[in-house]
Parts: sequence; structure tokens; C-alpha cells
Amino acid sequence: MKAVVKYEEKPRATRLMDIEKPVCGEDQVLLKVMAAGVCGSDVDIWNQNIGFKIKTPVVQGHEFCGVIVEKGERVKHFQINDRVVCETAAQICGECVYCRTGNYNQCPNRCGYGALIDGAFSEYVAVPERILHHMPDTLSFERASLTEPCCVAYNAMIVKTQIQPGKPAVIIGPGTIGLLCIIMAKLAGAYPVIAVGRSSSANRMEIAGQLGADILIYSDREDPRDAVRKLTGGIGVPVVCDCAGNTSTFKLSMDIVAPNGQITKVGWGPAPIDVSIDPIVQKGASIQGSFSHTWDTWETVIRLIDAGRINLEPFSRFIFGIDEWEKAFEAMDSRQAVKSVILPNA
Ligand SMILES: [Zn+2]
Ligand SMILES: [Zn+2]
Repeated sequence: MKAVVKYEEKPRATRLMDIEKPVCGEDQVLLKVMAAGVCGSDVDIWNQNIGFKIKTPVVQGHEFCGVIVEKGERVKHFQINDRVVCETAAQICGECVYCRTGNYNQCPNRCGYGALIDGAFSEYVAVPERILHHMPDTLSFERASLTEPCCVAYNAMIVKTQIQPGKPAVIIGPGTIGLLCIIMAKLAGAYPVIAVGRSSSANRMEIAGQLGADILIYSDREDPRDAVRKLTGGIGVPVVCDCAGNTSTFKLSMDIVAPNGQITKVGWGPAPIDVSIDPIVQKGASIQGSFSHTWDTWETVIRLIDAGRINLEPFSRFIFGIDEWEKAFEAMDSRQAVKSVILPNA
């Protein structure tokens, strides 16, 4: 079968290969992949610009959905031909305190698709029943493939962040996750929702506006510190979500967060943060990390997407066949696309 394989830990050492179809284990299904989203982290893996562990060779891709074509004998709740969308925790230990308490996204032995386990930029992928979710009939594969980043944003803004209706929230970085965090902040009732980004991401900032961001701050035209000071009478905002993750955006987060406020850091930084974090002490603020998601978040987000409460219209414009995987990656890398989606069986 065709698969997009990162074959060596070097920049751009990814290519389309013909590899064996995966074997379906007894508690797994074999999935015909119908749609798979390209994550910023897929582009980072491609460019070898990563702060997490991968194995090589590995089939890339972890945001996917499809149709079950084979099932193992211990699979109970899913049938052949079922349309399903899948979580990313391909392997967990099932025995640690996190697994036992449903927080398996923090399992120290977690192996994710597209990094440590062969992923979904391929015609078929093997998936354990544990991480499958039924897709409503009304939901298209293209939209369903966006469930995973929506769950990342939901976990960050709803599960991990104290948003209060009518209180402002700043979201820094209008990448896919940043834009989805804007949607979640709106759903939670934050007002105004303030998006911070650069003019080089003007098309994404425009989308931030379409998704409901009340105020757009272009950080290369105006210092966001001044803008936030003016908007809040000098106090700062109770919630800042850093979806960029580098030193300068983290410093900005500390500067604009209000006393007793919260900074949620979702973006990974390729380099260590190089700044004093004493403002956190002085402001009595908190720094909250957010990583991945769990089963309940998936069920909730699938309901929200299917009901149209999460507007994915601006995300579904860049669709590619598997032979065009490089174009799909390029479109993300050059920030042309907010989200590329690959259809491996189109
Ligand atoms: Zn992702
Ligand atoms: Zn575990």
C-alpha cells in the first residue's frame, strides 16, 4: 500500500513508499483511511524541527478517520463498514496511575500515531477499539478528520482553562490550534476574544475574525502590550493562551496576563524558553500546560462538530490525494493552508 514515510531522522527525509499493509491485532480494527489532516507537527517532523521523540522509519499522520474493513475477534462494539474517527494514543500501558484514572494522555508509555507508531498517511492503518469513535451519518470524512485538533483546542480552553463568560481572553498565534482555540473561547463565552498574530499570517488573522475573534492585534504593527493595556484599563487579561510557544510569545503572555490570571501553553517550542518567569511570582499567576485529550472530550467534540457549533468551513479548503502529500505539507509550511487534508483512498 502507499504510505508517506519518514525514513531517517534528517530534514525532509520523508517520501511516498510502497509498504506492507498493517496486520490487524485481535483487539484492533483495520481501517481504510478516508481522510487524514496534516498537523503542524507533521510538518515539523518532515523538517526535523521537533522537541519530542519519534522512531524511524514511521508512517506519518495522526488526525484521521475512515471505514472499518477488518476486525479482530475481541472487538465488541464496532462492525465492518462502520465509519469511525480515531484518537491518537495508539499504545498505552493500561497499568499506570494515569491510565487507571482515565488520564491516559499522560501515560509515560504512551506511543502516538505518526511518531512512534505507524500513522495514517497511508491507505490502511491498524487501530485498537479503545480509541475508536462512531461518526454520525451526517458528518463527512473531511470534517471528521479535523476532530483531533478540535479536541486539542477543547482540552486547552475548556478542560484546562478557567474561562468566564464576559471576561476577555487572548489567543496568541493564529495557527490551526490557535484558530480552534478562538472557537472554543467563544463557545465558553469569553468576551472580547482577542487574537494576536503577525501580518505574515494575514490570511489566518482574517479567518480568526471570521471565526468570531472580536479584536485582531497585528503584533508587528502595534505592541500587543499597549493594545491590551488600553483595552483593560492597564490590568491585563485573566486568560492568555500561547499557541506559538516560543520565548517572545511566552514573555508577551507574562506581560499581558492579569494578576491571578492564567497562561495556558499549548504551543511547543523547539528551543528552551530564555526569560525570567518571575512575573508569574509577582502576579500570582499560573502557567497551565495542555496536552492531547481523552475519550470524553472526543465524544463531546464530535457532537459539537456534527451540530455545526464548531465552524470548520475555513479549514476544509485544501484537499490532496496521497500522491500530492508534499504539496499538502508545503501548503501548511508556507502558511497558505490553515489545514491540509490528505485523502489516501481517493
Ligand atoms: Zn495534530
Ligand atoms: Zn499508562
